[in-house]
Amino acid sequence: MASFLAFAELCQALSQTQSRLQMAELAGEFLASLSLDEAEIAARFMIGRATAQGEESKLNLSGRAVWKIAAEMTDTIDQGEEIFAAATDFGEAIEIVMRQRESEPAATLTIAQVEHCFAEIAAIEGRGSRPRKLAELRDLLAVTTSLEAKYIAKILIREMRHGVSEGMLLEAIAKMASRPVAEVRRLHMLDGDPGRVVRILRGGSVPAPRQDRTIVRPLKPMLAYPAQNVAVAFDMIGPRIALEHKLDGARVQIHCTRDGVRVFSRQLNEITPSLPEIVALTAPLCERAAIFDGEVIAVDSAGSPLAFQELMRRFRRIREVERLAIEQPIKLFLFDIIGIDGEMLIDRPYAQRHGTLAELAAHNGLQLVGSLIPNTLHQGERFFEDAINAGHEGVMAKSLDSAYTPGVRGRGWLKIKRAKTLDLVIVAAEWGYGRRHGWLSNYHLAARDDRDGRFAEVGKTFKGLTDDQFRDLTDRLQILKTSEEHGIVTVRPELVVEVAYSDVQRSPQYADGMALRFARILRLRDDKSASEADTIRTVAREFEHQLVRPA
Ligand code: AMP
Repeated sequence: MASFLAFAELCQALSQTQSRLQMAELAGEFLASLSLDEAEIAARFMIGRATAQGEESKLNLSGRAVWKIAAEMTDTIDQGEEIFAAATDFGEAIEIVMRQRESEPAATLTIAQVEHCFAEIAAIEGRGSRPRKLAELRDLLAVTTSLEAKYIAKILIREMRHGVSEGMLLEAIAKMASRPVAEVRRLHMLDGDPGRVVRILRGGSVPAPRQDRTIVRPLKPMLAYPAQNVAVAFDMIGPRIALEHKLDGARVQIHCTRDGVRVFSRQLNEITPSLPEIVALTAPLCERAAIFDGEVIAVDSAGSPLAFQELMRRFRRIREVERLAIEQPIKLFLFDIIGIDGEMLIDRPYAQRHGTLAELAAHNGLQLVGSLIPNTLHQGERFFEDAINAGHEGVMAKSLDSAYTPGVRGRGWLKIKRAKTLDLVIVAAEWGYGRRHGWLSNYHLAARDDRDGRFAEVGKTFKGLTDDQFRDLTDRLQILKTSEEHGIVTVRPELVVEVAYSDVQRSPQYADGMALRFARILRLRDDKSASEADTIRTVAREFEHQLVRPA
């Protein structure tokens, strides 16, 4: 039985190793020294996965919760700011906190016991589950050493920071099993869970690439590479190109099997119980053992698309689903087929897969995303304009010859979006911790209200800046400082920044009820004064634009 401490020590060693080759060797040797069950778990832990693929969301423990428990156990709640400033990352902050205990318990936990504990926490569901989950975590932390607690915290928030990426883990697994890396990558492409890849390799049974996948496991979805515009996409893909509407909904992978329909999210979580109408719609395909890739959007009673957030209500819902399905209808649009009649189609070219998909959809009343095979660039650009005017997020450009590469952001699929930016004013900033210690880094962004001249916060971000820009902004904001409380520095609203974002969502956190999703600072707009910043009206218009989108 391998101890969890050995795993924590391995992670420490990895974080002190520079060479990629050495890291893969260290990790590979460690996996090889474990029993099959422990190696499966350790492979997941190594990249911050507490549970098997698809179970992660059930854990439902935030960094804040982990921090609170550790701080309560050690009576250090009021030292948070200092501890986070001294730590290089979240895990180290937890380690520092846990070191405040009067005595360290002896390390007794095995890797399997820690996983068992995570699984127990994930299994707690229903009313009153939160305090019970927290109590389980408290019990676990009570018997861990500080170093073990550091890595339990890191796994739970999925930030290992020892430099082992998924790609490197696959190299380590290849070393463990003395198999070519390409073979391991291929298995991982099909399965997506490195733990199961370890199991398959250690068990010696390597499935053929086109195995019958009647035991459904979701594949990682194929990803798209961004392209600036349609002309660039034509350059990158060439004349054998298809364009599709890029709908602003949520990705679904639908497995129609002899045992029924199962639906998975982009993160490969099972969401079947939340989407009964998708199950009903695709159930006739169960006889054909089909696997589809598509997008689900929320619609109003007239069938017009709604904001992304309304859709998320449906995805999270597990109780009273039938009622919500009536209140909040959804629509499914398919864009790919991954398997049919038990055969995987991932190696077939897009053109062939799309042909199969179109035929199946036509016979079964399923809807596809709008698409076009353009003859000229001009036609392609018109398709993009029409997509934007119809309220879509943009278009996808796909090579007619491209295979379906699970989990890979290849050049076979390109995404072309309408650029969304706003010029906003920084009204406050937070002192950073870890790498950003000593800098004002999380910037509170506000839009101007042209009715009363006040500035309304619509989001926060620390993304998009270089270290030099952080330093420069820290100096400039300190000059503008008007007050400081709990690590938040309020400043005179003078600095304007150009901010890119994905969309506007409803948010009760902000006075005007709107917040930007995925905000990132593009540049400082020293050429603009705060009175020229974008207004809250513009933000509201953007929000409404998202709401009224034709199907
Ligand atoms: P992004 O989330 O910006 O990386 O864009 C990729 C996402 O766009 C996919 O994961 C899908 O959820 C979504 N999407 C919408 N329409 C399509 C389409 N026609 N083909 C592929 N992905 C699409």
